Amino acid sequence: MTEATPFLELAQLCRRVQATTKRNEKIALISTFLKSVSSEEVPLATLFLAGKAFPESDPRVLEISYATVSDASKNLGQKRLAEHPLTIGDVYNTLERIAKTSGSKSRDRKMSLLQTILTQASPVEAEFLTRMMLGEMRIGVVEGVLLDAIAEASGVPRDLVRRANMLHGDIGDVASLAMSRGATALERISLRLFVPVKPMLAEMADDAEQVLAEHKDGTAFEYKFDGARIQIHRKDDKVRIFSRRLTDVTDSIPEIIDFAKTQVKASEFLIEGEVVATGEAGKPVPFQDLMRRFRRVHEVEDMAGKIPLKLYLFDALQVDGKTMIDQPYTERWKILSQIVPEDRLAPRIITSDVEKVESFMQSALKEGHEGLMAKSLSSNYSIGARGKKWFKIKPADRLDVVIVAADWGSGRRVGWLSNYHLAVRDEDSGEFLVVGKTFKGLTDAEFETITKRLQELKTRDGRYTVYVKPAIVAEVAYNEVQKSPRYKSGFALRFARISRFRDDKKPDDADTLQRLQQLYDKQFENKARVDME
Ligand code: AMP
Repeated sequence: MTEATPFLELAQLCRRVQATTKRNEKIALISTFLKSVSSEEVPLATLFLAGKAFPESDPRVLEISYATVSDASKNLGQKRLAEHPLTIGDVYNTLERIAKTSGSKSRDRKMSLLQTILTQASPVEAEFLTRMMLGEMRIGVVEGVLLDAIAEASGVPRDLVRRANMLHGDIGDVASLAMSRGATALERISLRLFVPVKPMLAEMADDAEQVLAEHKDGTAFEYKFDGARIQIHRKDDKVRIFSRRLTDVTDSIPEIIDFAKTQVKASEFLIEGEVVATGEAGKPVPFQDLMRRFRRVHEVEDMAGKIPLKLYLFDALQVDGKTMIDQPYTERWKILSQIVPEDRLAPRIITSDVEKVESFMQSALKEGHEGLMAKSLSSNYSIGARGKKWFKIKPADRLDVVIVAADWGSGRRVGWLSNYHLAVRDEDSGEFLVVGKTFKGLTDAEFETITKRLQELKTRDGRYTVYVKPAIVAEVAYNEVQKSPRYKSGFALRFARISRFRDDKKPDDADTLQRLQQLYDKQFENKARVDME
């Protein structure tokens, strides 16, 4: 057996890796190190370099705060013990003990464990140890670098190492297998039940046309639910459910465990879907309420009554021992639909007719859902990847704006005032400020009428543009509010199109700059909401 490696060597490696910006040098340094340590130390060192105490699929956490670390370091005094150098194994044992500590006095106990180990550490060891514990390694080692170093150290092809890591969810273990048992061991790695899988993600599309142009082999459009994504793992009587962030949420959703045990016609599976919290009349309720349920494990019974859940399934990654991630969407769906009740499947259509997609989108919205997902029929399940195989089509949001000018059209729209300058009202100054232009959404007859009305409202003529008195209120659909230096308002609506004219509204009833600011801020709130989980 190789002798235990001093932790100091790992800390010094961290320092060297951090000091170079060259990817190849980082890889070479790490690879040489991995080859020098014992097989038991390989997974520990690999995880450490990744800035983690435990693998991603491991539920254990250190939960050490900056304050605890800084208090522990302050009280060290002079009692450094140098006689026994820390080894990588010693450090790992302490990390395990820290993760096990819970309960009322846990902060004190964690602090004392930390102090014990810090008294044995030299400054460089202490530095990287505490950085790792606080999740702040930042030595410039992204996962790809580490995987390439594992490939180099083990002589296993890079793609095989990458694939094994994607499927396995424990980079330390992958390193250890690659180094000790080589390519054949990695080839045998497959999805493992009860180890959470990084979900496949979607890119945003502007509309169905874009998706259809991209997906050469056809597209399935599914409802996009505003809930929480879950993956359900089951083998016989054991069920585990993980969130999109790979957190184990099994205990907070007992009704889904029950569903997995009684209503799926397979005894071993990994399927994926979205839970939606439902309120009155089965309509979805806000996402925050659902997250509240995820967090309040202890009040589950109570919450289950208050916030009933509905589950919609949309993918099958493994069924009865067969891994299906390399199979096309159509095949995965087919298997899924054979094992789950039909009313639990995400509603979907397969079509290349844009109008059908639009009306399907309308039904999704009417039922209170978020929009549509568009999935390529021939696509495999790409673990953890965001790409064009899946698109999300966000329904447009709507705002009432005022037309303050219009450009003369060209081509098919020649003779019409057809590109409308859309404005919102600044509550502070009373000014109407432009937030975008559009010529989309109108019929020929509407172009005709609006051109006449605008000419009557003309205040001034530009070369191609007619400026008008703010009078016509239009409802526009748009996909996103963006910051924009182009307009004085500071904002621009992305993909604005006129959905209807609001002759019932006066310009003063139109939406304001202040509301736009709120909508802009809210876009980030939504993102944060998802991250909370
Ligand atoms: P976003 O969070 O906006 O990037 O959208 C992707 C998320 O939509 C996924 O992670 C799921 O939680 C959710 N989602 C809702 N409905 C579906 C569906 N039918 N297929 C896949 N994901 C869905």
